[in-house]
Amino acid sequence: MTRIPDLLQQGRCYSFEFFPPRSPEAEATLEATLVDLEPLQPSYVSVTYGAGGSTRERTHDLVVRINERHALCAMAHLTCVGHTRAELVDIVTRYRGAGIDNVLALGGDPPADVELPPGELEHAIELVRLIRDVGDFAVGVAAHPEPHPRSPDRVSDRRHTAEKLAEADFAVTQFFFEPHHYFDLVGSMRALGVDKPVIPGIMPVTSISGIARMAKLQGSEFPEWLARKLHEVEDDPEAVRRVGVEEATTLCRALLDGGAPGLHFYTLNRSTATREIYANLGLGG
Ligand SMILES: Cc1cc2nc3c(=O)[nH]c(=O)nc-3n(C[C@H](O)[C@H](O)[C@H](O)COP(=O)(O)OP(=O)(O)OC[C@H]3O[C@@H](n4cnc5c(N)ncnc54)[C@H](O)[C@@H]3O)c2cc1C
Repeated sequence: MTRIPDLLQQGRCYSFEFFPPRSPEAEATLEATLVDLEPLQPSYVSVTYGAGGSTRERTHDLVVRINERHALCAMAHLTCVGHTRAELVDIVTRYRGAGIDNVLALGGDPPADVELPPGELEHAIELVRLIRDVGDFAVGVAAHPEPHPRSPDRVSDRRHTAEKLAEADFAVTQFFFEPHHYFDLVGSMRALGVDKPVIPGIMPVTSISGIARMAKLQGSEFPEWLARKLHEVEDDPEAVRRVGVEEATTLCRALLDGGAPGLHFYTLNRSTATREIYANLGLGG
């Protein structure tokens, strides 16, 4: 199977993120999205994991199914929260058996509405080590350009990220709207002696209310200038989407011009915005 670090050595990687659908309707939407996006020939796609194991089977099944049925390489996300070491070993061992080579090792966030047992692993770096102990996987990690909202300060977050990235193969970032956040993160990694690839995560704005809430949760600044531009057209959902795609395209151009090793699109299981940005950038098959 394709290993993402090998792809990154050959050139830029463009990837799409999906979440496991919860209903037959959502399943049909995702299937249509996969069919729409496959011709863009992404380097890989990834499938999220519900912290605490809420999507344990669905993530596994979707990752395996995409690898088997589509001309796409799928990476599995996995989070520490609420899991014992033995459970995590079991999940990773199953991926090994299914021929899955790429895993994104994450800390995860305890869900607000479910009481979880305490997990045995506290931080993502411990999951990187656990995955490496199970087998010869390519392992990615998360990085937070603005830093992580639970961090007491930027310096310690950068240090923990650098330690984690040094043991992983590459990082994918949380979404952000200003390129300087990404370049600051990469500069910090280099200053701390870590030169592994850091792929910026892109969230095209397709509606105003959802994105402002998500940005707050993730600790991403939702800049005043972008909010103003979107609010100017807030009565016209199509115009909001158009502005979101234009601004995401501008961000992607700045990141690629500045040397980013690829782009990771948070698709929310839809294809239109990603296809439009791809076309604007002149990418894809
Ligand atoms: C690309 C991407 C994909 C994601 N996919 C998912 C998903 O599928 N499912 C999901 O539930 N969530 C997902 N998330 C969200 C992620 O789980 C949360 O942001 C989570 O709060 C932090 O994850 P992490 O892997 O960065 O954790 P960690 O690396 O564990 O970091 C979490 C916090 O702990 C601090 N820290 C790290 N190591 C140490 C240490 N040794 N000592 C003290 N402090 C330390 C860090 O500075 C940070 O503040 C994703 C995030 C990104 C960027």
